[in-house]
Amino acid sequence: MCGIVGYVGHRRALNVLINGLQRLEYRGYDSAGFSLIENGKIVSYKKQGKVSDLVVLLNGLEFKSNIGIAHTRWATHGEPNDINAHPHLDNSGNISIVHNGIIENYATLKLWLKEKGYFFKSETDTEVLSVLIGYFYEKFKDLEKAVRIALSKVKGTFGVAVISSYEPNKIIAARRGSPIIVGIGEDEYIVASDASAIIQYTRQVTYLSDNELVIITKDGYQTKTIDNLPTSSDIQVLEFDLSKIEKGGFEHFMLKEIFEQPQTIQDACRGRLLVDEGNARLGGLLPVIDKLQNVDRILITACGTSWHAALIGEYLIENLCGIPVEVEYASEFRYRNPIIRQNDIVIAISQSGETADTLAAVQEAKRKKATVLGIVNVVGSSIARETDAGVYIHAGPEIGVASTKAFTSQLVILTLISLLLGRMRSLSQEEGILIANEIKALPEKVNKILQNAEQLRQIAKEFSYSRNFLYLGRGYNFPVALEGALKLKEISYIHAEGYPSAEMKHGPIALIDENMPVVFIAPKDPIYNKVLSNIEEVRSRRGRVISIATEGDENMKKYAEKVIYIPETLPMLTPILSVIPLQLLAYYIAVELGCNVDQPRNLAKSVTVE
Ligand code: GLU
Repeated sequence: MCGIVGYVGHRRALNVLINGLQRLEYRGYDSAGFSLIENGKIVSYKKQGKVSDLVVLLNGLEFKSNIGIAHTRWATHGEPNDINAHPHLDNSGNISIVHNGIIENYATLKLWLKEKGYFFKSETDTEVLSVLIGYFYEKFKDLEKAVRIALSKVKGTFGVAVISSYEPNKIIAARRGSPIIVGIGEDEYIVASDASAIIQYTRQVTYLSDNELVIITKDGYQTKTIDNLPTSSDIQVLEFDLSKIEKGGFEHFMLKEIFEQPQTIQDACRGRLLVDEGNARLGGLLPVIDKLQNVDRILITACGTSWHAALIGEYLIENLCGIPVEVEYASEFRYRNPIIRQNDIVIAISQSGETADTLAAVQEAKRKKATVLGIVNVVGSSIARETDAGVYIHAGPEIGVASTKAFTSQLVILTLISLLLGRMRSLSQEEGILIANEIKALPEKVNKILQNAEQLRQIAKEFSYSRNFLYLGRGYNFPVALEGALKLKEISYIHAEGYPSAEMKHGPIALIDENMPVVFIAPKDPIYNKVLSNIEEVRSRRGRVISIATEGDENMKKYAEKVIYIPETLPMLTPILSVIPLQLLAYYIAVELGCNVDQPRNLAKSVTVE
């Protein structure tokens, strides 16, 4: 989950490293550090806190070094403090590493090394790897070999970058289950866990595969497997601009990304929505079109916000295509014994394409011979590469830790997939055209909701006092209630729960009193009247009702203390609209409470550990 960046070339490495850390900070931000090779020696600085704290520690110090590695941490082993921060050195102090992931057998290795007389300063699993590399270096006097052998002994996941004053011109990086990208510049290379640290310097990149290692000097790079077999690497071109990873005048990335949604929804549809045919063209699914024709059942697996999108996907696919769908948390799927039959298809949804549990679920499904599809944002990511086929959501980099635009784009893609599968079955062209036209109209409708942001800011001011919130919705909007509650929890630390509206009577109703805000997602749809009854039940217990309602529904004002209107659309598409006010509500409440919206407590973007 952390950020790794390394540099070798003609520039002053420290500038590139600090810049890279700032770009990567959304991936982990409890501590940061770097190592350089300065005058033939390793120089390291590390600090608990943000990258800005590290910069303060440097107090204007400058280094001439042209080679170094850096890290921004999301602690798994050992609390976030200066000592546990990366980089970690071997016992000689001549080898320095940064690591993303978890060394699962670190305790055994640590004991083994201690018995041999090695010592440890930190509580991290990472330091065990650095000391192990040092141990093998003493044996072989060859850095690459020491790294390879050490990595072959560790269990777990790693993205790792290593430098050493023994061989001061090279960076060695490797991956297993955690991304490593090499940016190829002119006489310079940037190795990073994420393209955002690279894009400022070059667009040419190569992605390491699992169990692959790269040796980089300023004159070139070579890839091979950890077992020392040569590999070939293809160069790809990064396709986003620097502006996409900057705030562009917004106070937070999250707000910027919420406001990008009219555009990102359109981008998700671009070239894919065939309005006149009432169908969708999804090039990424062509390799499996026969399987889609014959699919008997679909299993969707995901985590967090993507799991909420999956739940809506279930309703969409079952309604439009009549194909049974099951949705499962990836972390459960991977450790159960999921039943996968011959004509089943597994769909994995992940914004980053690196979510460790989802990736493992993909691998488990593949072991069971399933056809596996990915719905992923980050091009070239692990899930994108490991699935048989898939669809990119093309939402552009999502930096805000609380996912917003990726969610609505995932919903668009799930709708397009449903349209395609539906038209292969009994969905009529007429109905297809109706749906396609409604999809086309979404960006403008989202725009309209965003223009009303000020109303949400006012509501947020009034309700930020509450320590609990309830979110209720039915049908397509039940998962939206879950998502609204999750957004609020993530960034404001207010306890919030999402429930199907009618299910409230079976428990959560006990929580309702005059202090409890209850957010109802209540658009005009076939179950509108049922939801009104649920609102009455809350009102009779003096709960404070905030309703998301369809434009023109004046009646709702009689029921709710606050009404937020969204434009009318088909029930199946309402989640794409109804979630927008909930994103804004969570955002403004968090701001009102003074929370760090883009770097919420304990979270990090792209959960690459289990
Ligand atoms: N497991 C390592 C640690 O706790 C790496 C964590 C990370 O990915 O940031 O230090």
